[in-house]
Amino acid sequence: MGNVKNVYLFGDKKADGDASMKNLLGGKGANLAEMNLIGVPVPPGFTITTEVCTLYNEKGRDYAVSLIKDEVEQAVADVEKMTGTKFGDANNPCLLSVRSGARASMPGMMDTVLNLGLNDAAIEGISKKTNNERFAWDSYRRFVQMYGDVVLGMKPESKEDIDPFEEIIEKIKEEKNIENDNELSINDLKEMVKRFKAAVKAQTGHIFPDDPWEQLWGAIMAVFDSWMNDRAIYYRKLNDIPAEWGTAVNVQAMVFGNMGANSATGVAFTRDAGTGENIFNGEYLIDAQGEDVVAGIRTPQQITIEGSKRWAVLADVNEEERAAKYPSLEEAMPKIYAELNATQNNLELHYKDMQDLEFTVQDGKLWMLQTRSGKRTGAAMVKIAMDMYKEGMINEKEALLRVEANKLDELLHPVFDKDALASGKILTKGLPASPGAATGQIVFFADECEKFENSILVRIETSPEDLEGMNIANGILTARGGMTSHAAVVARGMGKCCVSGAGSLKIDYKKRTMIADGNKFKEGDWISLNGTTGEILEDKIATIKPELSGDFGELMTLADKHSVMLVRTNADTPHDSQVARDFGAQGIGLCRTEHMFFEGEKIIAMREMILADDEAGRRDALAKLLPLQRTDFEGIFQAMHDLPVTVRLLDPPLHEFVPHDEKGQKEMAKVMGVTVDTIKEKVESLSEFNPMLGHRGCRLGNTYPEITEMQSRAIIEAALNLKVQGITAKPEIMIPLTGTKKELKMQEEIVREIAEKVFEERNDRIDYMVGTMIEIPRAALTADEIAESAEFFSFGTNDLTQMTFGYSRDDAGKFLPVYLDKGILDNDPFQVLDQTGVGSLMKIAVEKGRKTRPNIKIGICGEHGGEPSSVEFCNTLGFGYVSCSPFRVPIARLAAAHANIKQGAWDAETTKENLKESAKNIGNAISSEYEVVEKEAKKMAKKARKEAEKELKKLKSEAKNIISKFEDEIKNLKKKK
Ligand code: PEP
Ligand code: MG
Repeated sequence: MGNVKNVYLFGDKKADGDASMKNLLGGKGANLAEMNLIGVPVPPGFTITTEVCTLYNEKGRDYAVSLIKDEVEQAVADVEKMTGTKFGDANNPCLLSVRSGARASMPGMMDTVLNLGLNDAAIEGISKKTNNERFAWDSYRRFVQMYGDVVLGMKPESKEDIDPFEEIIEKIKEEKNIENDNELSINDLKEMVKRFKAAVKAQTGHIFPDDPWEQLWGAIMAVFDSWMNDRAIYYRKLNDIPAEWGTAVNVQAMVFGNMGANSATGVAFTRDAGTGENIFNGEYLIDAQGEDVVAGIRTPQQITIEGSKRWAVLADVNEEERAAKYPSLEEAMPKIYAELNATQNNLELHYKDMQDLEFTVQDGKLWMLQTRSGKRTGAAMVKIAMDMYKEGMINEKEALLRVEANKLDELLHPVFDKDALASGKILTKGLPASPGAATGQIVFFADECEKFENSILVRIETSPEDLEGMNIANGILTARGGMTSHAAVVARGMGKCCVSGAGSLKIDYKKRTMIADGNKFKEGDWISLNGTTGEILEDKIATIKPELSGDFGELMTLADKHSVMLVRTNADTPHDSQVARDFGAQGIGLCRTEHMFFEGEKIIAMREMILADDEAGRRDALAKLLPLQRTDFEGIFQAMHDLPVTVRLLDPPLHEFVPHDEKGQKEMAKVMGVTVDTIKEKVESLSEFNPMLGHRGCRLGNTYPEITEMQSRAIIEAALNLKVQGITAKPEIMIPLTGTKKELKMQEEIVREIAEKVFEERNDRIDYMVGTMIEIPRAALTADEIAESAEFFSFGTNDLTQMTFGYSRDDAGKFLPVYLDKGILDNDPFQVLDQTGVGSLMKIAVEKGRKTRPNIKIGICGEHGGEPSSVEFCNTLGFGYVSCSPFRVPIARLAAAHANIKQGAWDAETTKENLKESAKNIGNAISSEYEVVEKEAKKMAKKARKEAEKELKKLKSEAKNIISKFEDEIKNLKKKK
């Protein structure tokens, strides 16, 4: 690691990093750097990389400290220079904040320490420097409180207990007979610091550290530790964030919002995170530090006048009181507001996304402390993406990629029935923190949300520890906290209904009661929350399905434009088919015919067929089933007119259909005119050790061909009946659980024979297809043979997963949770397709199938067909469609578009890479060619020189000869003379 840079400096509009370095600097660190680069005022500081966190987790504290010690000391010196202060100096101390910041934002899950560097000496310096002793002591008590909690582990001892520091604050207030924190005198604050330190010593055994460097290293390591705290681990699990990513640590010069009436702190969103409306909004507090706004201890005020007026209506505050006691930032600090408004506009334009901002005003100067893409509800996600697309800020593909497919699920949740809502009794009102409708039984503790199937978590305020319970509850209600409180932000991120800051509620954790509007409610009582209006209602309120149009519809149209795969649905009733069609399904990918046999008289005839002694008996029963089944198909074909419908022939083991209870067996005995014992014996004889690997799928049709005959006839007759009415049915008859080519062939022949017979009887025809499910590994491996009979393949990835892993679908619950906890598996393979194993079989099947039948139709109908990452995988294999349950159709449509856009980008990237590679190769070829030529030229030159030298030598010797000849001649002439 010798030369690796571990610490990145920023400040004075310069930075070592930038926004593209999120993986290394975390989201916060990268954006702090970027804000410096684009001229936004940010207090100077430095970021310790996420890689150091990973090394800390692997090799421990001593290793991590020695690795970064020099760099951190240098960075602190740089910050001192930029701020003109000195870390640890008694007269002019440099005070720091230490905050976490992972790659993906994890609001509130990890730890923060503010005002670090304060001690008994520095407090004097700060008091003198700011001429504000109260501010200095208020900052000190906050520091001891935060550091005591985060670094030294001073926490409540039980869930019913309040925070030990809060307990001391309450005690002092009681002794002094005061209500608000800001009424505490300087001496009260001094006393508070003394008591805090004593309590830390008593409860944790730690002496509160005075040395700023000890404080700093303690805080940095505590932030690294917080990556592994329970709530961070749970949040990562919930949001698929890998543990290896680690958190960065941001150390930054403090700016103070608690320096008096000219200082403030706040949180803001460039658009509404609940509804997506394009309005700047947020909350702030004058003379406060950041945590005060989100902790819900004081009532935060709104940023804009418009927001403030809206808030006043909801909070039942009249205009006079609002303007006097709760003015907006726009009114209270108009100049700062104008600067903040310009900054939010710039940041949104720069990042091209809705931003969640943190700011502090220190003595009349605005500082930005954070910007990040804001968490939002599913509805807001869709609206913001579509609005930004219409505003020209992003293009179609970007708009689609901005919406997480799974988030659409929230939009499909029920809403309150208007009439039921109108007649409901409103108990009181809070703030509409996260829209939606929730009904449930009251629980007061997050770890008890599972007590009831439908629960509403009621808290004075929530904290990050409550995350798991918030995820389980139907809705969240808090007595304290504003629109940016922990409860509000987390609920919006989860898409969960939340009403916050219902100040008139009186909640007693010990008695487990809530008083609303004079009525007492206890644990288990039913209430309803309207997250759109903030109303809290008595009892259950009926809900209905939501209307989907506007932005949602437009987004879906865009999705279809950018996808190649179609989305079908798994449906077995006309009603479900219609629901799916309304959601945009382009056909049925799986109609499980067995589901149709369970209602009314059908189950009796079905049981008669199963319990019959011989073929004749079975045929009698099947004759009764035929018209019933035909009517069912007519209903579905009608609902899906003009679209393909894949009907799967009977699949489950017969044992699932027979009566196992005494009453049912007696009834069957009566219908069939046999004794109860005979029925019992028959039922027992159907029992299997491994029914999932037993007498099911096409094995049923091959042992009892009359079942296949009846079902094929019902399908073809239904389609012909509709044709007469002018309705086009497009049946695709699917043989389940094929493993060998012969068992499929035999079934195919029966289907085709029956179809021809019916065509002849009716003197009419329809188009239909015969295909199979690929859900047994053998079928995948021999797909070239299977494709001889099958006109289409539909991957039954539920069974294919079961058989590839050898995990029983029915028994995996016993070990899968442990496997996931231990990290043996990353995902439940029954939910998220295992691309490595099951995916390889699918790839083989697709390639082999296409070899035999190049145009073979291919789709998927296992549960994975509605899971975004699995949908993407299907796209890479060139599937024609995915099929999923009706309510997942919109999710799959968006996922199909994402898959295609990403595939396109991937293809483009691969093409670019390939071109680069070829260019490199050509370059290499040219230069090696050049080398050869050069070598050759050198050789030739050498040879030429040699030859020339030889020639020269020859010429020289010839010349010498001639000269000597002349000389001889001259000599002779001279002699003659
Ligand atoms: C499958 O196995 O993936 C499938 C769709 O069939 P079933 O779930 O009915 O077994
Ligand atoms: Mg199956």
